[in-house]
Amino acid sequence: MRLYTHPACLQHDNGPGHPEAPARLAAVLRALDHDRYAALDRVEAPRASREQLLRVHAAAHVERMLAAVPPGEMRRLDEDTVLSPGSAEAALRAAGAAVAAVDAVLGDDHVRHAFCAVRPPGHHATREQAMGFCLFNNVAVAAAHALAAHGLKRVAIADFDVHHGNGTQDIFWREPRVLFASSHQMPLYPGSGSPGERGAGNILNRPLSAGDGSCLFRELWEGDLLPRIRAFRPQLLLVSAGFDAHRNDPLAGLCLGSEDYAWITAKLVELANQHAGGRLVSTLEGGYDLAALAASTAAHVGELLE
Ligand SMILES: [Zn+2]
Repeated sequence: MRLYTHPACLQHDNGPGHPEAPARLAAVLRALDHDRYAALDRVEAPRASREQLLRVHAAAHVERMLAAVPPGEMRRLDEDTVLSPGSAEAALRAAGAAVAAVDAVLGDDHVRHAFCAVRPPGHHATREQAMGFCLFNNVAVAAAHALAAHGLKRVAIADFDVHHGNGTQDIFWREPRVLFASSHQMPLYPGSGSPGERGAGNILNRPLSAGDGSCLFRELWEGDLLPRIRAFRPQLLLVSAGFDAHRNDPLAGLCLGSEDYAWITAKLVELANQHAGGRLVSTLEGGYDLAALAASTAAHVGELLE
């Protein structure tokens, strides 16, 4: 199993007091710096190319994200999304990690699972716009790469971040080769994600309510989303792995624990093994309580390593 990360992902700075902080990635990497994870094949993430980004983003958006920010300055994109001097490089490495991970699991070097320990996260970034801490939509760049560069016809994205992946939905709204399956809390930022938003029949939104926990989460995936992903027969399974549905997360109100992340990961691995030749690429999205994020990511990667 591969682990993609890059030190540049620690240099994207949203400013003091912001929940999407470099300390998040540091906590994740510290949790994976343990004997249990000795078998991880650790690889430095390359940069995504403009061509790879332009498959899912408007040219004006890509140029805006890559424009240099002078040292010491910050450029505010919206209430909670910021460009700092290190942001462009971090965003390029975050998207590039997901692309390289797709190449690895679809290549012939016997890699089946990969996890991208990167930031900024991606699933809120739309074709035209950065939002919700996200600059480029990493998982969407990866899915588009699998279609365009590897000729896949069916790619599934499972998104269990507590927020709805509105950007991923926006990008693949009319793309039946991509199935997007999401569980998320509603109402909550960004406000989208109702079951009636179906795109070309390829969007599956399953909202949960504040206070919901393990039972409802597992029922929703086991009884509904996983069977639908299986029926799609994906050739590759991508995961938007946000850990902010944890009960200790400060930004949301679901009540999952790290054992639930081990459970959903084991289920997704099983599904990938049955239908996608084992090919699974997971990329880090949210998770804002450092201890919960570290424990949940460790549980997730532990299952990917099995
Ligand atoms: Zn989130």
